[in-house]
Amino acid sequence: MVDDFHDIMVLAIEGSGTGIWDRDVVTGTIRYSSGWLEILGYSPGELPSRIDDSYDRVHPDDLAYVQAAMQDHFDARTSVYAAEYRLRCKDGHYKWVLSRGMVISRDARGRALRMVGTTTDITSTRLMAERLQQSTSLVANLTNQIPGLIFESRRTPDGMARMTYVSSGIREIFGLTAEDVATSTAPIHARIHPDDRAMYRASLDASQRDLVPWQCIFRVDLPARGVFWRQIDARPARLPDGETLWHGLVTDVTERMEMEQQLHDLARLDHLSGLPNRRAFLERMEKTWSGLVQARIDRVAVMMIDVDHFKSINDRYGHAAGDEVIRHVAAIMSSVLRSNDITGRMGGEEFAVCLPNIGSEEAGRIGDRLRCELAETQAWFEDVAISLTVSVGIARMLPTDRNGEQVLARADKALYMAKQAGRNRLSYAPDEG
Ligand code: GH3
Ligand code: MG
Ligand code: MG
Repeated sequence: MVDDFHDIMVLAIEGSGTGIWDRDVVTGTIRYSSGWLEILGYSPGELPSRIDDSYDRVHPDDLAYVQAAMQDHFDARTSVYAAEYRLRCKDGHYKWVLSRGMVISRDARGRALRMVGTTTDITSTRLMAERLQQSTSLVANLTNQIPGLIFESRRTPDGMARMTYVSSGIREIFGLTAEDVATSTAPIHARIHPDDRAMYRASLDASQRDLVPWQCIFRVDLPARGVFWRQIDARPARLPDGETLWHGLVTDVTERMEMEQQLHDLARLDHLSGLPNRRAFLERMEKTWSGLVQARIDRVAVMMIDVDHFKSINDRYGHAAGDEVIRHVAAIMSSVLRSNDITGRMGGEEFAVCLPNIGSEEAGRIGDRLRCELAETQAWFEDVAISLTVSVGIARMLPTDRNGEQVLARADKALYMAKQAGRNRLSYAPDEG
C-alpha cells in the first residue's frame, strides 16, 4: 500500500517533467530517478553515482552558487535547498534546471545524513523570461530614443491615475522621474498651468467615459525652467477590472504653439499702423456687444475717426507721406487711449475706437482730446512737417442692436455729419440710428 502510494507519487512527479534524486551525504553517493536522467538525455545506469561527478555536470559559472546553496541548507541556515542553474546534458549542451531538496535525516549533532529532492527542466521558462527581458529592454531602448514621453497609464473609475510605464522623456516633458508618477499622477497635475488644469481633466474624463482618443494641448510650468506647451495623444482601453488603460505620447509643442500665436497675432495686426486690423477690431467689438447684452458691461461708446482731406495730403506730399500720417494718427490714438480701450484701423485713413463702460459724454471728451492733439501736432515725413485734422463720429452701442457691428453704421452717419459741418469736429449719432 505504502509502496503503491510511493510509486504513484514518483509517477506523478516524473510525469510532469521533474526528476527525483536521493543523496547519501555520508557516503557521497547519489541516486537519480529515470525521469531525472531523461532530462539530461541519459538512460538508467549510464551515470556514476559519485556526488563529485554530479558537480562536474554543473556549469562552471554556477558551481560556487550551487555548492553554497547546498552548504547553507546542510548547515540548517535554510529550511529548503533551492537553486536555479545550468546542467550539462549527455550531448554536451546545457539546460536550465530548478533543483529543490531537503535533508530528511541528520545525526545527533545535526549533521546531514540523507537528502532528497527534485530537479525540473526550466529551460523554456528561462528562455521566455530572457526573451521577455530582451523585449522589455528593446521597448525601453526604443522609446527612450523618441523625443517626448511614451507612456502607459491606468486610471480607476473614481479617477485615481498612475503611470505604469514611462520612457526617459518624463524628465524633459514634466521634470519628473518614473518613481514620481508610479503610484499617482498628482505630480504631473501640479505642474500643469493652473489655467489649463480644468480643460486637461475634462479631456481625460471624456476619454475615460467614452473611450475616445485622448488629445489635449496644455501648458506646464516647470520649476527653474518656465512655461512650455505639451500635447498628449493617447488611446484608451477598458480593462476587465474596470480600470482604463492608455498608451500614448506626450510631445513638446512649444515652438509650434508660439509660432501659431505669432501667426494669429500677425493676422490680426495692421502692419502700417501697428493697430489691430478691421477683422480683429470687429471680433473684439462683437465680444464687447455680448458683454453689453449679458449686462456684464453697462454701456459702450464707439468712435469713428477719419482724417480730413487725406487725399490732398497724398496728392501734395506723396503716398509715403500719407502712410506717415496714418502712423502718426495711430501713435496719438495709442497715447491718448487707455490700454483696455479697443482700437483698430478700419481701412485707408479711417480708425475706430470701442470704449467699454464709457458713456457718450465721456466719449465726447476723449474724442475731443484726440481731435485737439492731432490738430496741434504734426506728422513728420523726412524733414517736412504735415499738419492734419480729423473728424469724429460717436455712437452708443445698444443691447437691442442685431450685432456688434450695427453701431458702426450710426457712428459713420455721425462722422458724415461732422464732415458736413466743416470737419475737424465731433458729431453724435442719435440712438435710433
Ligand atoms: P474727407 O475729408 O472727406 O475724408 O476726404 P479724404 O480725402 O480724406 O477722403 P477720401 O475717401 O476721398 O480719400 C481717402 C484717400 O486715402 C484715398 C486713398 O487713395 C487714400 N488711402 C487709402 N489707403 C491708404 C494708405 O494706406 N496709404 C495712403 N498713403 N493713402 C491711402
Ligand atoms: Mg478722410
Ligand atoms: Mg475716409
